[in-house]
Amino acid sequence: MGVPSLAERSTHQKKAVQILLQQIDKSFGDKTVLKNLNLEIESGEFVVIVGKSGSGKSTLLRLVAGLEEPTSGQITFNDQSIKDSKLSATMMYQDSRLLPWKTVINNVGLGLKGDWKEKAEKTLDLVGLYSFKDQWPSTLSGGQQQRVALARALVHKPSLLLLDEPLSALDALTRMDMQNLIEKLWLNQGFTALLVTHDVREAVKLADRIILIEDGDITLNIKNTVKRPRDFSDVMLAQMEKKI
Ligand code: ADP
Ligand code: MG
Repeated sequence: MGVPSLAERSTHQKKAVQILLQQIDKSFGDKTVLKNLNLEIESGEFVVIVGKSGSGKSTLLRLVAGLEEPTSGQITFNDQSIKDSKLSATMMYQDSRLLPWKTVINNVGLGLKGDWKEKAEKTLDLVGLYSFKDQWPSTLSGGQQQRVALARALVHKPSLLLLDEPLSALDALTRMDMQNLIEKLWLNQGFTALLVTHDVREAVKLADRIILIEDGDITLNIKNTVKRPRDFSDVMLAQMEKKI
C-alpha cells in the first residue's frame, strides 16, 4: 500500500482552501520587496518556496497569514477576503518559539479552550512526544522542540500550515525524520502547506510545486512530477539545484 495520491486525499478533506494572490506589491518604506506577484494555491497542495535570503519569502508567508497587509493587490481564500473567510492558518518558524516557563503540554494547549488538554495530548501523540508532555522545553533536543512547535501549530486543525524554514537549524538525520513526519501528517490531516526552505532535497521530497522568488516576483513555478513517496535520482536533484 502506497500513500494516497493528492486526488485521493482531497476527496476526504474536511476544509477546502484555495488561496489566490493577485498583483501583490509589498514595500517597506521605499524598499519594494514583492512586485506584481501572482500565485494560486490549490486546496490540499504542498507548495515549497525557495529563493535567496532577503528575496521576500517570509514576507509572502506573513501576507498569506494576514500578519501583514499588501501595499496593493488582493489576497483571497475561496473568493473571500482573509478577514471574512473561515480560513485558519498557523505558522512554524526556524526557532520553536516555545515559552520556556510553560511545560510541553501547556505550550501546545496555549490559546485553546474547553477540552484543551485532551486535544493537546492527542496532538503530542501524533508527533511522537506524548511521554514528554510534562517536561520543560529546555530539557528537549532541538528536534523535539520543533516537534512540539509542530504540535502547537496542528492542534488548531489549521486549513493552512505555514512553515518558514522550520528544519534549517536541525542536523541532517533529525531533518529527515521531521520531513517524514511533516509528509505523513500532511497526507493524513488534509491541510494545505506552504513551506520555505533552502534545501533542494527537502523541496523535491515534499513539494507538489516548487516556486522560486527572485527580484520580488515568481520566476519559476515547477510542478513536481515524482510520485510519493518520492524516489528521486541524484540527476534530478542536480537539475533542480541548477534551477533554484
Ligand atoms: P526572506 O525571508 O526571503 O529572507 P524577508 O521576507 O524576510 O526575506 O525580507 C525581504 C526584504 O524585506 C528584506 O530586505 C528585509 O530586510 C525587508 N523587510 C522584511 N520585513 C520588514 C519590515 N517589517 N520592515 C522593513 N523591512 C522589512
Ligand atoms: Mg525568511
